[in-house]
Amino acid sequence: MGLFDVHAHLTDRRLAPNADALVERARAAGVTTIISNGLNPADNQATLDLAARYDIVRPALGLYPVDAVLPEMLAAGVEYPRETDEPPPSAEEAIEWLEDHLDQAFAIGEIGLDHYWVPEELWVRQESVFRRLVRLAIDADKAIIIHTRKAERRTLEVLEEEGATRVNWHCFSSKVKLAVRIAAAGHHLSIPANVRKAQNFQRMVERVPREKLLLETDCPYLGPVRGELNEPANVAGTADYVAEAWGCSRLAVDEQLASNFEALFGVRP
Ligand SMILES: [Zn+2]
Repeated sequence: MGLFDVHAHLTDRRLAPNADALVERARAAGVTTIISNGLNPADNQATLDLAARYDIVRPALGLYPVDAVLPEMLAAGVEYPRETDEPPPSAEEAIEWLEDHLDQAFAIGEIGLDHYWVPEELWVRQESVFRRLVRLAIDADKAIIIHTRKAERRTLEVLEEEGATRVNWHCFSSKVKLAVRIAAAGHHLSIPANVRKAQNFQRMVERVPREKLLLETDCPYLGPVRGELNEPANVAGTADYVAEAWGCSRLAVDEQLASNFEALFGVRP
């Protein structure tokens, strides 16, 4: 039984060149599964390539909520930081790519709703893409990994309307009361590695039922040390924190979290 990171971005240009060392350090920290999350067709393909190289890396294939409407955002002149000048694929092209590669997906993600970057005129389109992706995951019997920002309530409504039950919410940043509601709906929520600096995640560890919590990093983002890139090995520090918060042994925490992972993904980490 091992630790796991349900939300990494190992294809990120700051991490990918050091993938060998990152995977080695993760193994040394007791990590047996890293779910690397794709953002768009090119990143999904890179995620599949990476998962083929490392046995502990599992590919989540998705369409980032901003990427879901990026061509429309750029056409409307909306400011959004990008690392490329390449024209982004349409949501239709991205969904077609996903349909063609579904059998290789460990999970579908990250997908969701983002009302922070996406202007209101595009929320309806963003939601219709999200619904198609949720149905795709349900039909293929895959777990869903959710990214949502400033749209948490609507995201829950959509998931409940579509009947999605195998869901993990990554980096949930709304009210703890809503996190408890989400857990009551049967969904999981993952705690990131910066938990010791983030009161909202500390309160989630206290108040969300233990069997609904998972661990993530969102690496290279959200590291426990300011100025340092985050990496999957850091989930061990989160597990230490959870053991302190729950007042039990690390072994008990690791066992509980491994069962939670299995309940969502259908396999042991
Ligand atoms: Zn992410």
